[in-house]
Amino acid sequence: MSLGITWVRDWVTESARVVAEHRVELITLDREIGDGDHGENLDRGFSAVMAKLGDLPPDAVPGDALKLVATTLISTVGGASGPLLGTAYLKASVAVGKEPELDGAALVAMLTAARDGAVLRGKAEVGDKTMIDSWTPAVDAAAAALADGRNEVEILQAAADAAAAGAESTEPLIAHKGRASYLGERAIGHRDPGAQSSALIIRAAADTAAADFVPAAGSEN
Ligand code: ADP
Ligand code: MG
Repeated sequence: MSLGITWVRDWVTESARVVAEHRVELITLDREIGDGDHGENLDRGFSAVMAKLGDLPPDAVPGDALKLVATTLISTVGGASGPLLGTAYLKASVAVGKEPELDGAALVAMLTAARDGAVLRGKAEVGDKTMIDSWTPAVDAAAAALADGRNEVEILQAAADAAAAGAESTEPLIAHKGRASYLGERAIGHRDPGAQSSALIIRAAADTAAADFVPAAGSEN
């Protein structure tokens, strides 16, 4: 039971779709505590990724696709979120290396490396009202699910649920990083746009894994 390049392609494609679908919502969130460009930034970035995804060679492995996302987001997304997410995907691609299939441990390593990359780049901690408030609970939940013996889909679903709760948890917070930090208490009551978009991206990972998942031979269904 594992997830390979088909899943990563599907994940990236679904990420582009949900980012486009939630573009206005992300713009609105960023307008409330930032400069209103987050939905635009990510939509531009993932559209550029989609334009390049077909160029991947037939023998591409998950790490190749993750690296393509990284370099494309870094070069096309203006704003803080481009280098942050770009570094996350870059570290994720390094973590999975040349493995053609990702098992649960590889997925946890991938998510952990992504989070660590964003932290390395932006120096945010949990509670700073940033995308890290989605990523870190997602990593922790994925690691716990792995330790519980859950399968790949369940690991990603646990990550997605925790990321969604993490995004919601940013609402009562004061921001300590990014543009929203200039607002002080006026940021209270607003969800962080980057935490919300990261939760959408992590949900896309779980949804596509559930759709693609082929149970191991010999299992009942
Ligand atoms: P900008 O703030 O430059 O306009 P975006 O609007 O695209 O860039 O992205 C804003 C999001 O980036 C924020 O909602 C937050 O989640 C994230 N962010 C900003 N600074 C940091 C940081 N230092 N660490 C982690 N995430 C950050
Ligand atoms: Mg912005």
